[in-house]
Amino acid sequence: MFLKRIEAYGFKSFANRTDIEFNAGISAIVGPNGSGKSNVVDAVRWVLGEQSAKTLRGGKMQDVIFKGSETKKPLNFAEVTLVLDNSEKQLPIEFQEVSVSRRLYRNGESEYKINGENVRLQDIAGLFMDSGVGKEAFSIIGQGRIDEILNSKPVERRVIFEEAAGVLKYKTRKEKALRKLESTHENLRRVEDIIGELE
Ligand code: ATP
Repeated sequence: MFLKRIEAYGFKSFANRTDIEFNAGISAIVGPNGSGKSNVVDAVRWVLGEQSAKTLRGGKMQDVIFKGSETKKPLNFAEVTLVLDNSEKQLPIEFQEVSVSRRLYRNGESEYKINGENVRLQDIAGLFMDSGVGKEAFSIIGQGRIDEILNSKPVERRVIFEEAAGVLKYKTRKEKALRKLESTHENLRRVEDIIGELE
């Protein structure tokens, strides 16, 4: 799976409809300071379901909507679509190409789409679950995060590696299963007590 295209309109500095095409392999985005390189990454993060305006470097979510410039009026909504290649079926959906969109109006109303069909935010989270792409996954590593990883204690770093390797998910499930096992043992002990009283 790889990101084929980002289509942005009214998102941050993308006042005009902007399509950014990617090919398989490594792509680099270069440009002067403040030209909008990080806004491209913010756009990806936003569509994947980011709900924190702070993570998107704003005060409130509506700050992602183009706020106007000397030559252009502010816009009323922001929309970003990610087009992903799914020919290897890493996303659990029967399409070779998957498009995921998010739109936000100034009044706070949101719309989410998968291949043009209206969906809920949780459907987008569900689509990417276990694909290694979700908003919490390590497919996006922001500025400062590398320093954070390098400066973290070995135990904290281990958690990061476990999460990236997909081990954390199994550890969490194991803990849940162990808790369930313990409560089942507890119930069994109670049943044995009752049987003992009746005999
Ligand atoms: P650096 O190299 O300094 O990190 P960058 O190329 O990553 O910079 P960004 O931080 O992505 O740049 O872009 C910042 C630009 O986006 C600023 O010029 C800012 O005014 C513009 N911008 C952010 N939000 C909006 C918005 N809602 N409307 C219009 N422009 C916006």
